[in-house]
Amino acid sequence: MGFFTKDNKFNLSLDIHDNVMIVSSNEEVKYINKAGLKFFGFNSFSDFKDSHKHGIDTLFIEDDGCINRYSLGKKWLTIIDNKKSKIKRKTIKVKLHSHIDEMSQYFYIRVTNLKSDEYLLSFCNVNDIEIEKNDLIKQADYDLLTQIYNRVKFNKVFPLAIDKALMFNETFSLILFDIDHFKSINDTFGHAIGDKVLFELSRIVNMKIRKTDIFARWGGEEFIVVAKYATLQEAKKIAETLRKLIESHNFGDSLKITCSFGVTEFTVSDSQRGIFQRVDDALYEAKDGGRNQVVDK
Ligand code: GH3
Ligand code: MG
Ligand code: MG
Repeated sequence: MGFFTKDNKFNLSLDIHDNVMIVSSNEEVKYINKAGLKFFGFNSFSDFKDSHKHGIDTLFIEDDGCINRYSLGKKWLTIIDNKKSKIKRKTIKVKLHSHIDEMSQYFYIRVTNLKSDEYLLSFCNVNDIEIEKNDLIKQADYDLLTQIYNRVKFNKVFPLAIDKALMFNETFSLILFDIDHFKSINDTFGHAIGDKVLFELSRIVNMKIRKTDIFARWGGEEFIVVAKYATLQEAKKIAETLRKLIESHNFGDSLKITCSFGVTEFTVSDSQRGIFQRVDDALYEAKDGGRNQVVDK
């Protein structure tokens, strides 16, 4: 490593970057900068080198959207280096375990072939950006008030539920429900209390349904559940359980509400529009029939 002498300017300039490392194609570590040593929790280059005699794959953490040595195979350095031809992504994201706060952090990694057998790995810390991005993605999927899926997210996941049902010959049912006379709750107790009711209702329903079910705010005071694998008879039971749960729940200061339910089961000949129309008709009949009841179609 002739040019990496103590006072060398190149060496100095590498030190001001986020983690930088030089490895040979068989992953023998030839250099790591100060930030890298600190990040991975080593006092000296020789300590780091000793701990990574067999390669640096243990530095990478498996995570969604991140590449690691296993996903790319043995030639990962060359693959990242030639990323334009092999990987259709401009930036390659990796997750590394930080010794500093014992947390994992996101980095973009760039691999540059220095000479035939040496690669410069430079890591750019994008942890804050990634966290912010994930928060925004989450916000876009969830309804702000109730913290359950919003309609946009529902419309993304519902077609997948149909595809899965068709592919694996499974069934599912839809349960659409709407708070009875909610306008009068707002009028009597105020909009803020109305909001609390919507939040609390979502919470108790969310706790009751199965984890595999999809639950979303359909709009206003109307909610939808995709009861996975449930036949019409099973979905009617689930809806009846929810109806009783809501009817008996104390929403604060003896505030009580009821909901009306429409239920329908998916059939293979259903269009998305058709099944929604049917469950909507069922809900309408439940309202028309006197509210606080379950109607199936
Ligand atoms: P029905 O039994 O026929 O469903 O009667 P309803 O009063 O529940 O139905 P209507 O459609 O007349 O009124 C719905 C009310 O829901 C009116 C609207 O202000 C209220 N609402 C919709 N979204 C929200 C919200 O986010 N917060 C609050 N507090 N109220 C909401
Ligand atoms: Mg209503
Ligand atoms: Mg409504």
